[in-house]
Formats: sequence, C-alpha cells, structure tokens
Amino acid sequence: MSTLYVVATPIGNLSDLTTRAVETLSAVSTVAAEDTRVTRKLLNHLGISPQLESLHAHTTPERLAALIEKLNNGDMAVVSDAGTPGISDPGSALVAAAIEAGHEAIPLPGPSAIVAALSVTGWSFDRFLFLGFLPRKKNEQLATLESAASEPGPVVAYESPHRIKATLANIEKQFPERQLVICRELTKLYEETFRGTATQALTHFKEPRGEFVLVIEGAGDIPKTEITDEEITKTLENLKAEGIQGRTLVEQTVELTGAPKKRVYRLSLSSK
Ligand code: SAM
Repeated sequence: MSTLYVVATPIGNLSDLTTRAVETLSAVSTVAAEDTRVTRKLLNHLGISPQLESLHAHTTPERLAALIEKLNNGDMAVVSDAGTPGISDPGSALVAAAIEAGHEAIPLPGPSAIVAALSVTGWSFDRFLFLGFLPRKKNEQLATLESAASEPGPVVAYESPHRIKATLANIEKQFPERQLVICRELTKLYEETFRGTATQALTHFKEPRGEFVLVIEGAGDIPKTEITDEEITKTLENLKAEGIQGRTLVEQTVELTGAPKKRVYRLSLSSK
C-alpha cells in the first residue's frame, strides 16, 4: 500500500508553503500537478525535481489508471496550481481512485482562499456555505444566490476579475442590506480586503484586477421550530423512566425543551 499526499500550496506568498509540504514534495518521486509548468516553478524554487505528471480537471480514466500504476510503485503527492487540491481544483478523482485501489490518502493542510477569507471576516459563525464559482448565466446565478438566502452562516464564492462586477450587481439585487467581505489578491503584493455592501463594492471596484473571494454575511440564527406537545410529553416520559418526578421533572423538561413552565406542568399532569 502506498500513500497519496494531498498537498496544499501557496495562493500567492511562497512563504506560506509548510515545512511538511516541502519535506513531502522532496521525499516523493512523483508529483501529480494541475499544470506542470506552474508546479515546476515552485519545485525549482525549492531546489527539488521529482517527476511531474499532469492531472487536469477532466482527466481520462486511462490517465487516472496510469497515475495509480505509478502510485502502486511508491508514494506520490498531488498538488494544484494554488491552494488546496480538490477545492474548486483537480485532485478528488485521483484521491477516489487511490482509495479504490487500496492506497491511503493523507492531507497536508495549508493555504486555501476560502478559509483565508473567512478568517478575516471577524464574524462569529459555526457553519458556512461554499458555492465555489457561481454560475455564469445571470438567471442561474440569481437562482443560486436566492437558494443561499436563508443560510444562517456566511456564504462564500470564488470569482474572476472579469465577472465580479456582474456578480456584485446580482448580489446587490438579492442581498442589498447584507455586509460583504471581499478579499482580493490574498497574500500577494496588492492584497486588499473590502468591507461593505454590494452597492459600495461596485463603487469601490471600478476596474477589478486579480483574484477574488466573496463572502456574504449570513441570514443569522437558525430559526427554531416550535416544539410540539408530543415532543414535550416524550421528554417528560423519558425523564420519568429515569426516576425523576415532581418539580424536578418539570424543571428539567423546561430546561431540555425550552418550553414555558406552565405548558410543561399542564402536560406533566396528563402524561403517563
Ligand atoms: N484550490 C484553491 C483553494 O484552495 O483556495 C482554489 C482554486 S480556484 C481554481 C481559484 C480561485 O480561488 C480564484 O479564482 C479566486 O476566486 C480564489 N483565489 C485563489 N487564490 C486567491 C488569492 N490569492 N486571493 C483571492 N482569491 C484567490
């Protein structure tokens, strides 16, 4: 059994390559890369020269089989042009084929534009929705944005400089009030983080250049659905089965269900 190392690489600043990534890229004999020319530059910078094999987004089954053949003979690494393989980038098909062939896939975490952008929002959240690259067609894009309207956490999308203005106009239509955090050229010379509404962003990004991550403020708390009498009764019964009675029974049921005390008391009288 061999190991396929899934190695994150910098999204701009080469110093963001982890020590472990350097050690691994130096140790393996083969690296599967999205664009071998891009990866060759990185490897030249590191002074190492493993064999490079190309792995495109639409790699054929024959090509995948050839890569697995190489993996059968020893450990391999997979990288994309920038960031984490498999995140809006090639990589997942090779990981799936490697697992299928009985090998192990080990991640080497590192840069990813989604996580970098989320980390500077300053918003507190315990979930987020990643939409990848939004559909190009206006109606499809509006429909995708609409489908994300009730997401409680931030909504993240990748965007190109050519399409960002059209996308911001659609966000302005769908979410005129929401705050956005737009990260441009993260970790690079012209790095910039914009904060404001879509209308303000359209004024700010007059001639957009570089790479962008869009983060749209979420809809807020997950709406709590009203608890039913049946659910409260079930909780009462479960606690009774544990030997809990009287005032403690009512108090603990209130705590567990969030239902008003009077309602719990009334249901406790009629429950078995
Ligand atoms: N796999 C990568 C990752 O983990 O971040 C993403 C690859 S995806 C093909 C490329 C997109 O990621 C760009 O179009 C842009 O939206 C975003 N991106 C990548 N690098 C970036 C950077 N330095 N600053 C802002 N966005 C970036």
